[in-house]
Amino acid sequence: MLLRGNTIEAVGSTRELSAQADEIVDARGLVLLPGLVNTHHHFYQTLTRNLPEGQDAELFDWLVAHYPVWARLTPEAIRASTATAIAELLLSGCTTAADHCYMWPNGARVDDQIAVAREMGLRFHASRGSMSLGRSRGGLPPDEAVEDEDAILRDSERVIAEHHDPSRYAMTRVVLAPCSPFSVTPGLMRASAELARKHGVHLHTHLCETVDEERYCLETYGQRPVPFAESLGWSGPDVWFAHAIHMAPEELARLGRSRTGVAHCPTSNMRLGSGIAPVLAQRDAGMRVGLGVDGSASNDGSHLLDEVRHAMLLQRVAHGAKAMSAREALRLATRGGASVLGRDDVGMLAPGMAADLIGIRVDDLATAGGSVHDPLAATVFCRIPNVALSIVNGAVRVRDGRLLDVDLPELIARHDAAARALVA
Ligand SMILES: [Zn+2]
Repeated sequence: MLLRGNTIEAVGSTRELSAQADEIVDARGLVLLPGLVNTHHHFYQTLTRNLPEGQDAELFDWLVAHYPVWARLTPEAIRASTATAIAELLLSGCTTAADHCYMWPNGARVDDQIAVAREMGLRFHASRGSMSLGRSRGGLPPDEAVEDEDAILRDSERVIAEHHDPSRYAMTRVVLAPCSPFSVTPGLMRASAELARKHGVHLHTHLCETVDEERYCLETYGQRPVPFAESLGWSGPDVWFAHAIHMAPEELARLGRSRTGVAHCPTSNMRLGSGIAPVLAQRDAGMRVGLGVDGSASNDGSHLLDEVRHAMLLQRVAHGAKAMSAREALRLATRGGASVLGRDDVGMLAPGMAADLIGIRVDDLATAGGSVHDPLAATVFCRIPNVALSIVNGAVRVRDGRLLDVDLPELIARHDAAARALVA
């Protein structure tokens, strides 16, 4: 593969490519893949992984246990958790990620995340997420965890103006992302959609994650989640939903026709006992489907290659061993994810695409035996600890399995000090 600047210039056998280059990376023993795309995460939740009160809870109880802790987030906590999540993502094959932070207490801002992602070299879709419906008005979060809607919309417009880059190979894009039907008002959903479309940015929220959410929508709005979202302008090629588990066949058929996207998060869905998403039916209906690790407090990791493996395995639990192949799972994590984020410049190794690629070692312990038969499928069937090589936008970020320019022990100490302060 010949890279020039931040793009792929040529792909072929070593014989076909020029032997002249400023730098030659020896990739013998590696399977090269397009960098993986993570379509749903909450970086800040690395701070509250494995919180005892949330270990055995389903979504609503899990959220209620976490909200008061998250309400103590600070700018430093946001920066340390963003760096921690990005380190895990880069080491596990991710080169493009969308994050969904929806709480900005104590002066925290999305700018804090964007600065860290730029420094670490991850291609980043930052959400100006939000919550506005506190408990006293019928929402799930406590009142001290929600923001004023005018302030949310004003800051959304500021973040778009300051950070959104619509150009090809952009390293930073902005997304508007009210949190869920039970934590924002219909008015904020509608206003966010209007603002996003005025500026050409994409829209993201949680939808159809649990039966509790469906019950909430029926009781509060007299509608199931999908028609409720559609009635507020929330469907189309610029919208993607996290989870999308409890969808009726006619609902996903409609969302397929509108080319709405899905972030499938199998580990989190298993962890919270939320259910098995109908991703194959969604894909067949025309929805855009990608994978996400979801927040680090319901996973409790940010390992994207694990998510590929779990996506394949979970569909087999529901539909048998032929349901999803290793190649199909990789397709969801690459081209699928790119399409969910609205990108045609990542997710493939081809001339003209961004120089985002990963190398997975298939000559060591984890793949011993497996790579003899099918090295590509071995990257999914076998349990890969971390990638050996990662290049993002033409820059090497992981070499010989080590993250460059990051002092991990120092980062972990900083991160865990912030995590302790949240529960002190
Ligand atoms: Zn989520």
